[in-house]
Amino acid sequence: MDTMVSMIDLHTHSTASDGSYTPTELVVHSSINGIQHLALTDHDTVDGLDEAKIASEKYGISLIPGIELSAQWQNRTLHIVGLSIDPTDPLLEATISEAKRIRVERARLIGARLEKAGVECAYRLTRELAGTDLLGRLHFAKMLVEQGYAKDFKQVFKRYMVRGKPGYASAEWIETEAAVKVIHQAGGVAVLAHPARYSLSMGQLRKALREFKYCGGDAMEVVSGNPRTQEIANMSRLAHEYSLSASVGSDFHGPDKPWVTLGRLQTLPVNNSSVWEAYDLL
Ligand code: AMP
Ligand code: MN
Ligand code: MN
Ligand code: MN
Repeated sequence: MDTMVSMIDLHTHSTASDGSYTPTELVVHSSINGIQHLALTDHDTVDGLDEAKIASEKYGISLIPGIELSAQWQNRTLHIVGLSIDPTDPLLEATISEAKRIRVERARLIGARLEKAGVECAYRLTRELAGTDLLGRLHFAKMLVEQGYAKDFKQVFKRYMVRGKPGYASAEWIETEAAVKVIHQAGGVAVLAHPARYSLSMGQLRKALREFKYCGGDAMEVVSGNPRTQEIANMSRLAHEYSLSASVGSDFHGPDKPWVTLGRLQTLPVNNSSVWEAYDLL
């Protein structure tokens, strides 16, 4: 097993979306963990980037401006990370404001459904806890655990926050192909996030990768979260097969998901072309 540790983390969250560290705290912890290159990739927002930039200069880290766009593909949600984007690009800004509208509307619906299922003040409590209007499922999950409706994230997602359960509402996110175009328009690199986390069969995953590549997708995460060696090997092979560059990202959200560490990720298998070399990101 390759136990070399990468000093690069290209997928993280802050309080601008559903992370629990502010952008500054995220940068400080990145620095402590020996990260040299950090991408902040909040869900459907670039609101944390200015603060992260200032902190990154103070703490001597190079910051790659990013985003994690929610997108749909065949009635499912995929997450497309955009790296090295221009956050002021007009098309990106328009896409973000539409995604925010969708997110706010969906949160109202999730809140109402949870309240109907007996969770009192679901929306208000979650809104208070989140400190932002841009509520995601993780915010609702935190509220439900805090209020004692479930014992941990695993249980709360299974019982409440997935399709068919009371805390789930579908959303009409932008099509994957359009998400890739927006990221390119903003000068960024389009990376399929955590490909092993969509509960897709191998056949479906291959189809998703083929279509992602066909519509201009650049890379996929090969080392994501806290992956097992076998998963890295599988994703490495798929990246190679579909001529996608390979990325490395923890998908760090905060210390309350202790199985994910900020940085300290395994390095890429040598036979993959890294997204930072292929697109000159560092
Ligand atoms: P959303 O973008 O609002 O639909 O929420 C997606 C987010 O929910 C992910 O980025 C994670 O933060 C969180 N999430 C999804 N599934 C799980 C899970 N099984 N356990 C913990 N967090 C999860
Ligand atoms: Mn999240
Ligand atoms: Mn994601
Ligand atoms: Mn993420």
